[in-house]
Amino acid sequence: MFIPTPASRAHTSALVLFSGGQDSTTCLAHALSRYERVETIAFDYGQRHKVELDARLQVLHELKKRFPQWAGKLGENHLLDLAVLGQVSDCSLTRDVAFKMEASGLPNTFVPGRNLLFLTLAAALAYRRDLQVLVTGVCETDFSGYPDCRDDTMKAMQLALSLGMDKRFLVETPLMWIDKADTWALAHSLGSESGVAQGGEALVELIVEHTHTCYLGDRIHRQAWGYGCGECPACELRARGYERFCQAAA
Ligand code: ZN
Repeated sequence: MFIPTPASRAHTSALVLFSGGQDSTTCLAHALSRYERVETIAFDYGQRHKVELDARLQVLHELKKRFPQWAGKLGENHLLDLAVLGQVSDCSLTRDVAFKMEASGLPNTFVPGRNLLFLTLAAALAYRRDLQVLVTGVCETDFSGYPDCRDDTMKAMQLALSLGMDKRFLVETPLMWIDKADTWALAHSLGSESGVAQGGEALVELIVEHTHTCYLGDRIHRQAWGYGCGECPACELRARGYERFCQAAA
C-alpha cells in the first residue's frame, strides 16, 4: 500500500478558518499534523461572542508553547473586519435578543450565507498567500440545521471557488461526519500523534481551558468542559460532547 509522506503529498499548505472555538482549534491541529505551512483566518463581524476572537490569540500562543514542532509551521494569523455582516443580518449572534427557533425551523443564530462569505474571503486570501487547502470546522452531524454547513454546500463552494479563481482549491472539513464527542476524541488523537509526551491530554486540556464556544461570551463560569454559561445551545452541545467523550475514555 502506498502511504504518501508529507513531502510527496499534492497539498502542502493550508488556511484554517480559525475562530478560537473548540471545533476550529481541532481543525487547526488537524492541519498542523498534515501540512508544512499553515496560516489562520478569522472574521470580526460584531458577534456577541467577540471574546472568542480574543481566545483565538491565547490558543495560538499555547499551541506554539506546548507543541514546538507545530510552532514552526504556523504562519500568519489574519483577522478580517466583516462589520458589514452586522448590517445585512439581524440575528441573535449580533444583537442582544434571546435565542429561539424561527418559523423556518432554523435557530435565530443563523446568519444567512455566513459560511459562503467566509469561504469566499478565505479563498481570496489563500490565492494571494499561495495556500492550497481551506480547512473549516463545519459539520452536518451535530449541527443546528444551518444549510451553509452542509457537505454538498462545501463541495459546491470548492467547485465555484476553484472555477471562479482559476486555482484548484481543496475545501477540507475534518468534522463533517463526526459528533462533538468524536471531536474531543479527534483532538486527543491528534495531540497523541504530535510527538509531544502526553500530547493527547495536553491538547484536550488546552482546548478546555483556552477555546471559547459560549454564545453569550461567558468567561466567568468554569465548567468541567471549559468556560461558558452552561445554558446556551453552544454550551449544551459542548458539555454533552465532553461528557460522552469522558465516559468513552473511562
Ligand atoms: Zn453559553
